[in-house]
Amino acid sequence: MMMKITLLGTGGALPPGGRAQSGIFIESTEGCLLLDCGSGVLLRLAQAEIDLARLNTILLTHLHLDHMSDLLPLLTARWLNGQVQTRLYGPEGTEALLQDLMAHWDYVQEHVRLSITELQGGMAFEAQGFQIDSLKAEHGLPALAYKFDRRFVFSGDTVPLTEMAQFAGDCKLLLHECSLPDGVEAPHHSRPRELGEALANCDVAKLVLTHLYPPTQGCEAEMIRSVKQHFAGQVELAEDLARFEV
Ligand SMILES: [Zn+2]
Ligand SMILES: [Zn+2]
Repeated sequence: MMMKITLLGTGGALPPGGRAQSGIFIESTEGCLLLDCGSGVLLRLAQAEIDLARLNTILLTHLHLDHMSDLLPLLTARWLNGQVQTRLYGPEGTEALLQDLMAHWDYVQEHVRLSITELQGGMAFEAQGFQIDSLKAEHGLPALAYKFDRRFVFSGDTVPLTEMAQFAGDCKLLLHECSLPDGVEAPHHSRPRELGEALANCDVAKLVLTHLYPPTQGCEAEMIRSVKQHFAGQVELAEDLARFEV
């Protein structure tokens, strides 16, 4: 089944101008999902003309602020729009964090209804008509990569993983974080050369680099060249509001 992917935010925790933090909207004829909800995603949803009423299912890759800081504002906006019930999937710790946060605002606590499922890497499940597989990422805290209908993979935040080559190998599109260029310290994140090496035997048709920090500006061509030294497929850099069909 065909799916449409809209990139809502392609910046990292320190986003360059013109990039919101992490957020992706996925839709098919069966349903739709929001994947991550960092700062700026609520604005981008409006710009992409995505109806908040449709966003009853949200997946988080991990619990860093740049992947979830617009979540409570979004849930509150959905309540004001008439939708109180949302299904949320995330890594270990999601339930405790959301309970703590929501307790700070009575009006959120009273009106927003969340049903939360915590996931471990390797778990597979179905949501909104998508078959979803997960992979444990390496990011210094519980973090997941997700695969949708064996077509599309989002890495979330992670160092390059050799397991990713196989996980994404049957897909058409891999959206992978590549926070910083080669030669810049990037603990817990991916840089082009190591990412290309990890994906050397990956058969995915297209790789899109996302979660960008300011030092990537002006290095776009060099980053793509560096990944391509080992990875044979198409490579490009992500842009906010870009759309893909796979
Ligand atoms: Zn991040
Ligand atoms: Zn992170």
